[in-house]
Amino acid sequence: MRIRHLPETLINQIAAGEVIERPAAVIKELVENSLDAGATQIDIDIQDGGKSYMSVSDNGYGMSAEELVYCLDRHATSKLPDDDLLNIRHLGFRGEALPSIASVSRMLIKSKSRETGEAWSISAEGGKKGIPVPDNHPQGTKIEIRDLFFATPARLKFLKTDRSESTAIKDIVLRLAMAAPEVGLTLNLDGKKILNMPPSALAERLGRLLGRDFPENAMTIEALREDLQITGLASLPTYNKGNGLAQYLFVNGRAVRDRLLLGALKGAYSDVLARDRYPVVALFITLPAEDVDVNVHPAKAEVRFRDAVRIRGTLVSAIRHALQEQAGRSAGSTGTQTLVKLAASSPQPFAPHKEFIPTSASQLYSGMSALKIKELSESAQAFYQPLFTPTPSARSEPFPTIAVAEPSTTTHPLGAARAQLHENYIIAQTEDGIVLVDQHAAHERLVYERLKAQQQETGITAQGLLTPEIVELDDLRIGDLLQHTEILKEYGLDIEPFGPGAVAVSSVPALLGATINIRQLIHDLMDELEEHGTVQTLEERLLAVLSRRACHGSIRSGRAMTPEEMNHLLREMERTPLSGQCNHGRPTYIELSLKDIEKLFMRR
Ligand code: ADP
Ligand code: MG
Repeated sequence: MRIRHLPETLINQIAAGEVIERPAAVIKELVENSLDAGATQIDIDIQDGGKSYMSVSDNGYGMSAEELVYCLDRHATSKLPDDDLLNIRHLGFRGEALPSIASVSRMLIKSKSRETGEAWSISAEGGKKGIPVPDNHPQGTKIEIRDLFFATPARLKFLKTDRSESTAIKDIVLRLAMAAPEVGLTLNLDGKKILNMPPSALAERLGRLLGRDFPENAMTIEALREDLQITGLASLPTYNKGNGLAQYLFVNGRAVRDRLLLGALKGAYSDVLARDRYPVVALFITLPAEDVDVNVHPAKAEVRFRDAVRIRGTLVSAIRHALQEQAGRSAGSTGTQTLVKLAASSPQPFAPHKEFIPTSASQLYSGMSALKIKELSESAQAFYQPLFTPTPSARSEPFPTIAVAEPSTTTHPLGAARAQLHENYIIAQTEDGIVLVDQHAAHERLVYERLKAQQQETGITAQGLLTPEIVELDDLRIGDLLQHTEILKEYGLDIEPFGPGAVAVSSVPALLGATINIRQLIHDLMDELEEHGTVQTLEERLLAVLSRRACHGSIRSGRAMTPEEMNHLLREMERTPLSGQCNHGRPTYIELSLKDIEKLFMRR
């Protein structure tokens, strides 16, 4: 067989395989082109999930007749004026999208160039280009795509239902709309206008796209480290989801799904959210173009940072800082939501918001023997005992519901305890409202913070193994793991190379206990290293143990408390960082202002 050059159309179809996997990818490329062309208004029209028809029209600077011919050529672009791949200032730069799309569909481009003032159109079918003809078109460009993948039937078969292709398009448009709030955008799906957004400020656009309650339940993130800037909104821990889909990240205006950044987010919230819950974020990272390589992924969805450690560190500390400063707000905003629900005369007042129930206590104990639970409970007793000094009789006697121990005026932020209801909810009176506390959730947080502080003081204890455990690993990844031995040692995990293809583990963190499956732990660490480049797993596991202890060592719901105990709990909460939510992201208390209550009773 002789070597030959492939025909141009085939080359473009091969490229289309990478760049254009589904209709949503076409929309992404076309809208990015419109943004690059300086458009202030972009209109998108879709039929049948994009399979039969898609169009994107803009009021950007347009193309001349000559440019219309060029734009369909492979690797023809106006966006790399200096041939410098390290200085990319546009969303596009490969000159691949239009020829790729044209090679697998029927395309029509109409455009009026700002420079020439003339309007022309050109069409292409399965990669065969027509010639430009004069046309009638207002300023800007409209690109229509019909019968996507008609020229590559094998590809067509991989498309999902219209509905799920439409969903993917909506998601892409959402991300593009967030990245460019100053641009007006409309989206028509099968003749129905499902999105109509005027140019707006970022916060307003985020509210429209992610729901008005998102900004209300989010912390403002603002971090500036030399030439690295991170801004945007990140949800309070109490506003969380069961998957990470609502984590919108942008690097220099480009929507990315970057493992490093997603891993950093997970780490930043690890202390206030259960493992399987995810915060909602819209974060914008801006840094010099030469510090980030966007040329690592055909659809440009991933990026590579020159100094990944710095980006990660800045993101984690910006969020943790915000959590310390602003997380107390979760109570207030949850209160407002409660109010909205009450006002809507929900048949079950105070029914907890579904979003706020990330995990159940039984889930926490699953897999633990009764003996273990008893052991944990006993050891934890010692921790929470000093938080209270209840008299033995007060503890055994059921306590009357109405409690008056603090003066009736109080300046404490969480007020004076007035009553305990259903043996779990403390009602406290503040200067201008009321506070409702979930005693178990609140106490759990206190005990957890206490355990953590204690661990910080004493350091993590390592437990030596009688005989080192040998774990076999593949050679390729072993080097990665050994690069982290120092930090692992700080956590009590001692690893040394043990001949080719194995490591010897001589100690483990005492907290994890002697029965821990070491082989599994090492493999999990390696997987994490591969995926996120960090060894968070270990810290998370240790915290999970503390969290389990805290949960078990906390005052259960169903236990009557004395006024002194209740007030003591409130004061401890005021002193404890992050006491607005339990370790799983549920709120520990909600606050209703008198104003809100008056509104509820229509006194205002
Ligand atoms: P890239 O965006 O990587 O340059 P494309 O294949 O997406 O490659 O587009 C090729 C060229 O066509 C662009 O560089 C640009 O000059 C021109 N172009 C594409 N879409 C538009 C548009 N909507 N308005 C003006 N010019 C456009
Ligand atoms: Mg492009």
